[in-house]
Amino acid sequence: MSLIHLLSREVRPERVERPVLQYGHAAQSKKGEDFVLVKTDCQRVPGDGSSTFGVFAIFDGHNGAAAAIYSKENLVNDVMGAVPSGLSREEWLALLPRALVAGFVKADKEFQRREQSSGTTATFVVIDGLTVTAASVGDSRCILDSEGAVITLTVDHRLEVNEEERVRVTASGGEVGRLSTAAGAEVGPLRCWPGGLCLSRSIGDMDVGEFIVPVPYVKQIKVPASGGRLIIATDGVWDALNSEQAAKYARGLPPEIAAKQIVKEALRSRGLRDDTTCLVVDIVPPPVRPTAPVAKKQSRILKVLDFRHSFNVSKLTRKPAGTRRQVEEIFEEGSAMLADRLFPAPGGEGVLKCAICQEMLTVSSDDENDGSFFSLSPDESWEGPFLCKTCKLKKDAMEGKLCKQRLQSQTNGA
Ligand SMILES: [Zn+2]
Repeated sequence: MSLIHLLSREVRPERVERPVLQYGHAAQSKKGEDFVLVKTDCQRVPGDGSSTFGVFAIFDGHNGAAAAIYSKENLVNDVMGAVPSGLSREEWLALLPRALVAGFVKADKEFQRREQSSGTTATFVVIDGLTVTAASVGDSRCILDSEGAVITLTVDHRLEVNEEERVRVTASGGEVGRLSTAAGAEVGPLRCWPGGLCLSRSIGDMDVGEFIVPVPYVKQIKVPASGGRLIIATDGVWDALNSEQAAKYARGLPPEIAAKQIVKEALRSRGLRDDTTCLVVDIVPPPVRPTAPVAKKQSRILKVLDFRHSFNVSKLTRKPAGTRRQVEEIFEEGSAMLADRLFPAPGGEGVLKCAICQEMLTVSSDDENDGSFFSLSPDESWEGPFLCKTCKLKKDAMEGKLCKQRLQSQTNGA
């Protein structure tokens, strides 16, 4: 691409704010528990084409496919249900990390009511313009390949590799250990008990400890105007390839073929031991069409060159040249504690709604804190977030509080 081409793109930033999304996916199935969701026509404001955004997700089920199918069918609605109406684009993007947490927890709560025993990872990516927001539980992974650099937008919630999660699970009343043989030798990856799951976070899994939580790690970034490529894949890929390898094998190929190539390379090095699924999404700047006379455009480009020169000179002492083309990190939070994740919604809307299930709360005078998240004194305003009784119970259970209460009551009773 010529310098003129690049510069003429940069003097019209509004043109690159709405990139084109090109995608493709590939899979090799062993158990039939991997699922892919692609939805490019979501609208923040129904009927308003300028509010369109895309959702790309992967679900890797275990102990059956029910939780993965449920999440694929419901997670978009559960997340969007936690977004108040009437937000500006900036407000929506700022609120999205909270809505993703609410949506994941709601999907988990609703699925568990079905009393089916399966669980699933969920790696759920929202692309709005150049802003990418990834939310994830489990050990599927999303990486971004942009300007030759590969960054990971998720963390692996796998007990074997995630010490922070081992500490959290243990503190919440779980036990972390390996399976042992009859002879007493320890085998396989670290698991948590009760349940024996290798993951520390998932959607579903009602028959494992409540410390296996659905609270996602969320990362929000802005890709450079030159675009980038997302690779979202299940552990069938990541057990065989590291992030750099996956990006490298796919470079220069269109998305569909890139996804096939990554799956092929994963199988080549490890064989088909697990469902292996890969989704590739290219965020492509739209083609630049000249709209101004050539002479005028040249003068604008010169201005940009001048600007870039002074920019680089003034920034050189603090930042290396070229940082303008880097990925901009906007938000990152991985805490499993809902108190860290459910900040108040803007505009005061939904004040008396449960921040997770979105049900209206009833507040009586003799129990004004009923269901509220934070305790309120009379001089504090009602700004939330609040939880209904059952969501509050779920929160306490996830944090190991119910476990301790049970233990205490058992100890007291004994
Ligand atoms: Zn609720």
